[in-house]
Amino acid sequence: MPVQQDIDELVGRARDGVPRAVARLISLVEDAHPRVREIAHALTPYTGNARIVGLTGPPGVGKSTSTSALLTALRAAGKRVGVLAIDPSSPFSGGALLGDRIRMTEHAVDPGVFIRSMATRGHLGGLAWATPQAVRVLDAAGFDVILIETVGVGQSEVDVVRLADTTVVLLAPGMGDGIQAAKAGVLEIADVFVVNKADREGAEATVHDLKQMISLVRRELRGPSWRQPIVRTVASRGQGVEDFVRALEEHHEWLVSRDELPRRRAARARDEIEAIAVRQLRSELVDLRDGDRLAELAERVAVRELDPFAAADELIGDLRS
Ligand code: GDP
Repeated sequence: MPVQQDIDELVGRARDGVPRAVARLISLVEDAHPRVREIAHALTPYTGNARIVGLTGPPGVGKSTSTSALLTALRAAGKRVGVLAIDPSSPFSGGALLGDRIRMTEHAVDPGVFIRSMATRGHLGGLAWATPQAVRVLDAAGFDVILIETVGVGQSEVDVVRLADTTVVLLAPGMGDGIQAAKAGVLEIADVFVVNKADREGAEATVHDLKQMISLVRRELRGPSWRQPIVRTVASRGQGVEDFVRALEEHHEWLVSRDELPRRRAARARDEIEAIAVRQLRSELVDLRDGDRLAELAERVAVRELDPFAAADELIGDLRS
């Protein structure tokens, strides 16, 4: 178990750009190490500078290719970039998962890039809990941009929208009518739309459909002041990536000019606090469960001396006492 001095030293090395220190800190928070509080405390003074961009969209749309293209563009602009690839369906996490992906070979040796995949690791609510903490590590380590990529829309345990300052929804032509599949909810969460695979037939039709759906949703919402741009890209050839970067930049400026950035960050903090509190309560309940108290209550419920709601109230009462 690392002592406080080790934690401070680890944070210092992460801030010096040592990838192993960043990886170690993420592993510690991901595993909910007993000293995770001290780690969070040590990180906090250095956080708040990174721009957090979430990318989501149906599988196969080109998220990892786009992330890679975006990485290249942001690196060319001198930005340090951290990537968290979120896969709620996978029990594996850590860098190895990405070993076979193009971007690893392309960006693996670049010290200005840190790529990490995150998975559930079996614990309930694990990603919802761990991902914001991993974001904190990358933020404190001085990454200018943090890209959070998820495997799919609507099925993710981690709501990428709630983690990001800017949410990008990717679509592509000929994906079993991606827009229909993506449903209206996606239209509302997107700050920026990317129609990738613009080299494919049907790209303009996809853009056209998207525009129509956006105008419908906008009317329903009585016109949000941010007009979601639609960027066309061919991520596999790096085409349109400049427009993509510009759209991200413009959205950031809009967030700042409308005081929307602090509002989004406060919403994120609320989720984070809730996830920490729920996890804490759950573990206290599990402790009680292991003791005799739950067994005693269960027996009383079984013989109908007590109803289960009253029993749960008693259990919660025990936590508070
Ligand atoms: P993900 O599942 O959303 O991460 O999608 P990937 O990035 O793995 O891409 C899925 C497939 O689409 C891969 O074979 C890519 O090479 C290909 N792809 C990505 N971008 C483009 C593009 O702009 N045009 C074309 N034609 N293919 C692309």
